[in-house]
Amino acid sequence: MLKMIEATSLQDMIELLLWKVGVQYLGLDGEKSSDGFDLSADPQLLYACKVDVWRYKREASPNVRGPPALVCNFSQLEEKLQAGYKATTAGKFSEALRHFVAILQTIPFIVVESRREVDEVKELIIIVKEYVLGLQMELKRKELTDNPVRQQELAAYFTHCKLQLPHRRLALLNAMTVCYKAQNLSTAAHFARELLETNPAAENQAKKARQVLQAAERNMRDVTPLNYDFRNPFVVCGSTYTPLYRGQKDVTCPYCSAHFVPSQKEQLCTVCELAEVGADASGLVCSTSQIR
Ligand SMILES: [Zn+2]
Repeated sequence: MLKMIEATSLQDMIELLLWKVGVQYLGLDGEKSSDGFDLSADPQLLYACKVDVWRYKREASPNVRGPPALVCNFSQLEEKLQAGYKATTAGKFSEALRHFVAILQTIPFIVVESRREVDEVKELIIIVKEYVLGLQMELKRKELTDNPVRQQELAAYFTHCKLQLPHRRLALLNAMTVCYKAQNLSTAAHFARELLETNPAAENQAKKARQVLQAAERNMRDVTPLNYDFRNPFVVCGSTYTPLYRGQKDVTCPYCSAHFVPSQKEQLCTVCELAEVGADASGLVCSTSQIR
């Protein structure tokens, strides 16, 4: 599943496991467990590894019931998710990004009971992946003050990330404003219409959108061409931040499912920073209900 279980990442992960449990138990040597298992080969072994630590913990404190101490539970991730949303709303994008990346990097440690929870964990990966990609693009956009074309493109792609409605409105408002300033009125009008379709509760958002539409109606054209066609469905490459339109070849991250241009194959996924792009994988194992 995850190349993260390789080399230094493995060491880091195991150290984290050990740190959480507070014992030296697994006796891992490099990539191999003490039993000679190559953890990078099989996600079920990682799961077994989690369970082993769990069992050890139980044996060490037989009277302690409930979930294993090492395992991050789902409600902790929920809290992090809410913190990420809150920071996004406040425009604190670097902070928000830290929360979302932390969720992606914590999920491999999670152990849940039921199939339903497994589905929730998988859903959470997808939700968070969209935010990480979107915020990475938005932070990149802010660095590119001398490149208005690229700024418009990144702002446009951000609106295609699956975000909570208030955040989608912010992305649309932003893209509309950036394109309007660059005199790309036709594209700005597209974002204005999208924004109005969300029925923004904030009157100033609706007002701005109507003003942009009025201005665009008098002069419906773009001054500079953009690599952006909203009529043609696409996903955004997590590394080059360019659109991959339907029918174009791409490769995906086996863990977070981010898409990439084919040249990114075998590179570390820049969204989750855990898995190898294009690697063949069986998926995250976080519950015995998946193994039984
Ligand atoms: Zn990934």
